[in-house]
Amino acid sequence: MSRGEPLRLERLCKQYGSVQAVHEMSVQIEAGEFVSFLGPSGSGKTTTLMMVAGFETPTAGQIFVGGRPITRLPVHKRNIGVVFQNYALFPHLSVFENVAFALKMRGVSGTELRAGVTEALTLVQLSEYEGRMPHELSGGQQQRVALARALVFRPGVVLMDEPLGALDKQLREYMQLELKRLQKSLETTTVFVTHDQSEALTMSDRIVVMNEGKIEQIGTPEEIYETPQTRFVASFIGESNFLDARFVGKTDHGLLLDVAGLQVRATWQGSECQTGPATLMIRPEKVVPLAEGLRADNEFEGVVEEAVYRGSIVKCQVRLCAALPVILTIAVAYRASSPRFKVGEKVRIGWDARDGRLLSGGANGPSQSVPENHEAEPALLRVTSAADRMAILPS
Ligand code: ADP
Ligand code: MG
Repeated sequence: MSRGEPLRLERLCKQYGSVQAVHEMSVQIEAGEFVSFLGPSGSGKTTTLMMVAGFETPTAGQIFVGGRPITRLPVHKRNIGVVFQNYALFPHLSVFENVAFALKMRGVSGTELRAGVTEALTLVQLSEYEGRMPHELSGGQQQRVALARALVFRPGVVLMDEPLGALDKQLREYMQLELKRLQKSLETTTVFVTHDQSEALTMSDRIVVMNEGKIEQIGTPEEIYETPQTRFVASFIGESNFLDARFVGKTDHGLLLDVAGLQVRATWQGSECQTGPATLMIRPEKVVPLAEGLRADNEFEGVVEEAVYRGSIVKCQVRLCAALPVILTIAVAYRASSPRFKVGEKVRIGWDARDGRLLSGGANGPSQSVPENHEAEPALLRVTSAADRMAILPS
């Protein structure tokens, strides 16, 4: 199957009555790239995808595939494959006929049709199931049929809207790897919609973080996690400590901040505001216990207020000795051989200046809000690599 084509959205807008579902969305997606649109429910992901696929008409803006404007082309002339969350297979058609449908729509017949369908079903490892009906397949198999149908006409771009959302966790993780493997080998340009941060981090070359119809940030998974540009991104992807901070000055090495009377060093990252309210952001796994002799740019004494065993890590709340209460959530790598963090214990903890980011706005500002039932699992991402830096204070 042929390689994908670049996809470009230019100031794409969609208005439903008074609702601005998508606002001035601009993004360039390269040929063969896997890009996720990640955002909470209602952030405009599906609307954007439907406009690209041709099922919705943009209020304003343009869409280009391979440099050609497609904004006004009908669905079947766009050379775009689509996979929906609910599979949308035709229940009365066999696996073969479901896949063949996409080719017939485009005027393919005879031996070319049979060869195309066979190739697509082989790709998704379902060639032996071509005679089955959708209800005779598992969820994962049905989703693979939907994928074969989206790929069979060799589209320049494939769009997937939460395609794995209906599968259970284990199958979903298996399909993530399968999908990624297939996408890599075919070099299909893929736009993958999800509200699941770990899915986006695992699968994407780049992530477009969306909020209220707008792009918050575009970057590689590492950029999005390590250097979030906004408070929304920092709280939607992974978990963070947010502390009210006041800019004190610049030093040779970075920023000097005041956090509840404590002096804190952070790294200069360019766009921070030096006046007005600001927030210091620190990932829990960046704060490490400092054993005898270990140093960090920021070192504090604290008292463990809570310690919860979470498998690979122990999640702790540590109250820093400061004029105002400062409580940090920290994630300590768990080793059976290490002494545990115990509630009530005094500990020395620290983090490097480069691990603290200054964001504009106060720590309790409205942008702190994270959608309900958003369970962040940040520590699991980094904690293994950080494990060797971590040591626990002897009691
Ligand atoms: P997401 O896929 O990120 O959950 P959607 O693109 O489905 O978000 O929705 C974005 C916003 O547009 C929401 O506020 C939603 O209620 C609104 N919306 C979506 N489709 C329609 C529609 N057909 N009519 C009116 N409002 C819509
Ligand atoms: Mg949606």
